[in-house]
Amino acid sequence: MAHINHNYLKLPGSYLFSEVARRIRAYSEAHPDREIIKLSIGDVTRPLAPAVIQALHAAVEEQAQAETFHGYGPEQGYDFLRCAIVEQDFRARGVEIDKDEIFISDGAKSDCGNIGDIFSADNVVAVCDPVYPVYVDTNAMAGRAGDYDARRGGWSRIVYMPTTAENGFVPALPDKTVDLVYLCSPSNPTGTALNRAQLQTWVDWANEHDAVILFDAAYEAFITQDDVPHSIYEVEGAKTCAIEFRSFSKTAGFTGTRCGYAVVPKALVRDGASLNALWNRHQTTKFNGTSYIVQRGAAAVYTSEGQRQIRADIDYYRSNAQTIKAGLTEAGLEAFGADNSPYVWAKTPGNLGSWEFFDLLLDRANVAVTPGAGFGPSGEGYIRMTGFGDAEDTRRAVERIRSVLEHL
Ligand code: PLP
Repeated sequence: MAHINHNYLKLPGSYLFSEVARRIRAYSEAHPDREIIKLSIGDVTRPLAPAVIQALHAAVEEQAQAETFHGYGPEQGYDFLRCAIVEQDFRARGVEIDKDEIFISDGAKSDCGNIGDIFSADNVVAVCDPVYPVYVDTNAMAGRAGDYDARRGGWSRIVYMPTTAENGFVPALPDKTVDLVYLCSPSNPTGTALNRAQLQTWVDWANEHDAVILFDAAYEAFITQDDVPHSIYEVEGAKTCAIEFRSFSKTAGFTGTRCGYAVVPKALVRDGASLNALWNRHQTTKFNGTSYIVQRGAAAVYTSEGQRQIRADIDYYRSNAQTIKAGLTEAGLEAFGADNSPYVWAKTPGNLGSWEFFDLLLDRANVAVTPGAGFGPSGEGYIRMTGFGDAEDTRRAVERIRSVLEHL
């Protein structure tokens, strides 16, 4: 008889986005004349850059001819893309990364989810709270999370590190044994980022404790402030304690095209084993490479045309986020993020619960947001809004929210 992985049965339903969608649908059905503007959107909306489209077309043509056809490629990715990454994402920032330390993938979600395979099930995991749910759920699947406590909204073996307005959204170093730490900067959902000194503290702690930092830099392209590192390897000592995840999704509109990469330094060794060698073994066994066509599209992001074009989209989204933050702040809410991020994270007024404020905005402003409580216990009392929508819709949504708040 086959037995299942019982950890899957412990997972709570993916409640957040389905519940948000359900409430929007129910409201729309009851009020068909009302136009709802979604500031809850977590996906990009602008099309791929022309330079990327051109490269994708050219790669499709190559696949049509026997002389230029590509079958299986290297599982770790093609050199043309790995070398462009080494040069432009790292060397241009003064960081030396070897191309063999770069593993091209189909996106950061797979990498963040799969990285646990190379670590022991006994490791204690710490996450920021609120958090991108993939880190928690994939560790729960691997049996590292203990049991789920629905009342608390958390797992018994996961160490939750609150990041709230009270601590400036900077997680405190753990006061108990922790082996693996997920850090996301700039953060989804709070839109806040860790500066160089704050990251240095974490890197020093990880080296001292032989812990490993799993650093999610999916939103690094949105960084504007000089003291916020784009890569954890800009911080001294990070190569002996950190793995980094990057994505073309929000950087270059690849959410539906799929490409990302992980950086696993050769200097990163635990239990006498090279994590680079383990990840290479993982990828060559479980992954047959990202599509040649997609990698050609991703490489076009690094051309001067590509850079100019993706920058325009990143600025568009961040400017929407700034519009949201400024509008909420003027209306008297405490709002965070947006400076280095497409996300705005705001405190609800008058100690309203996340879902209560969600319902209020949906009903009175006809604007959909995402309740912060869905990202972890410390997200209660906050909402998340994103700059991924249309600029005019974003301005109208903010106006509506302001007029509702004025009459509260
Ligand atoms: N990491 C964070 C923090 C994210 O918010 C997301 C997507 O929303 C991802 C990773 C996943 O990115 P990808 O589309 O590359 O899988």
